[in-house]
Amino acid sequence: MTIVAIVGAGITGLSAAQALLQCSEGIQVHIYEKSRGIGGRVATRRIEGCIVDHGAQNIKTTEPAFVNLLLEELDTADLVPIVAPVRLWRANGEILPPDPRHEAISKYAYRYGLTTLAKLLLARLPKEWIALHLETPVARLAEEGEEVVLKDGEGRELMRADFAVLTAPLPQAASLLAESALWMRGTQQTLDRVRALREVEYVPCLSVLLGYGPGLPEPPAYALLAEDRSETLLWLAFEHLKAPERAPHGESLLVAQWGPAMSRVCFEEAEAMVVGRTLNELKRLFGETYERPLWVQVKRWRYSQPRGMMPFEMINPPAVDSLIYVAGDGTRPEGGRIHQAYLSGLETAEAILARIGGHNVA
Ligand SMILES: Cc1cc2nc3c(=O)[nH]c(=O)nc-3n(C[C@H](O)[C@H](O)[C@H](O)COP(=O)(O)OP(=O)(O)OC[C@H]3O[C@@H](n4cnc5c(N)ncnc54)[C@H](O)[C@@H]3O)c2cc1C
Repeated sequence: MTIVAIVGAGITGLSAAQALLQCSEGIQVHIYEKSRGIGGRVATRRIEGCIVDHGAQNIKTTEPAFVNLLLEELDTADLVPIVAPVRLWRANGEILPPDPRHEAISKYAYRYGLTTLAKLLLARLPKEWIALHLETPVARLAEEGEEVVLKDGEGRELMRADFAVLTAPLPQAASLLAESALWMRGTQQTLDRVRALREVEYVPCLSVLLGYGPGLPEPPAYALLAEDRSETLLWLAFEHLKAPERAPHGESLLVAQWGPAMSRVCFEEAEAMVVGRTLNELKRLFGETYERPLWVQVKRWRYSQPRGMMPFEMINPPAVDSLIYVAGDGTRPEGGRIHQAYLSGLETAEAILARIGGHNVA
């Protein structure tokens, strides 16, 4: 029996678990997740009768393995195409026509929120071989002989495993490894891995969620993307267009995500300031009706998406022979995408299976 501990129940962690359990008998997987639910940055909130994705916004890819997963392997009952286009907007308020090249690739969401994807992935895992530990942060790891020991913040042992997979955003994985370096097989090699991980920057994102009563004009697009990436509001998505279930009849739901530069400057600002600035920008763009939402919430993503990447084999060098793998969207080209997280999970499972002699990931 091989025991694999996965730190993080986002798409990378769930994908790795699925690939390990599909491809080899005799593997037991434990997933440790610090928050109350699964999905990580694929995150959905229910607010005042609305359903809103406040992290990842939509699924858009032609990547064959992921398209096959989405359309053939997983239940498609709640999968909905987003038919309205994404359009660029300019600082002067001009909204450009949809770009046919971008619109040629279908965009998808789930009727009741993107976390459905995580739930569907979890539901596929065989119950007898998987244990999910929610609200259980892993604070330190140690390699002892042929085992990895996972510990909580009090230094208590959570479990012993044959391999561990870290799937937090790379800066957080770096901190966890740095914290653990003294207890690793090769402290210097571990610190080299930490240095490599820290080379990948993750940009912050302030995600402001706004609910509006009836009477707002028909939106010009599913979402508007700022042509100038230094604008305060980079992405404005009309969430109620994803599916009728997203908002009570006639109401509108807007996700206003700030660009990296302004998110960084204002990340620690009081909520009232972030909301005030968002409403001012919306008024400037769309007029006064957008100044008076029924409700507003702010979600702060300190590590939203990677800028750049560090290839899997650079942070998991085979020569180091570590029992601890680092995975996640920052290890993939064009990371910061749900499908890249999924592929990272497959890649990591493949590496572990190669070491224990399991079947290849299809
Ligand atoms: C604002 C925003 C907008 C985005 N928009 C899109 C989009 O439109 N389309 C798209 O494809 N992608 C988008 N993304 C990116 C996408 O969400 C990510 O690429 C993907 O979800 C990453 O998955 P992951 O499993 O690698 O990481 P995560 O989802 O971050 O999962 C890591 C998990 O590890 C847990 N964890 C961390 N540390 C510990 C610890 N010490 N112990 C236990 N658990 C721990 C975390 O709680 C988390 O659940 C967006 C992301 C954000 C934040």
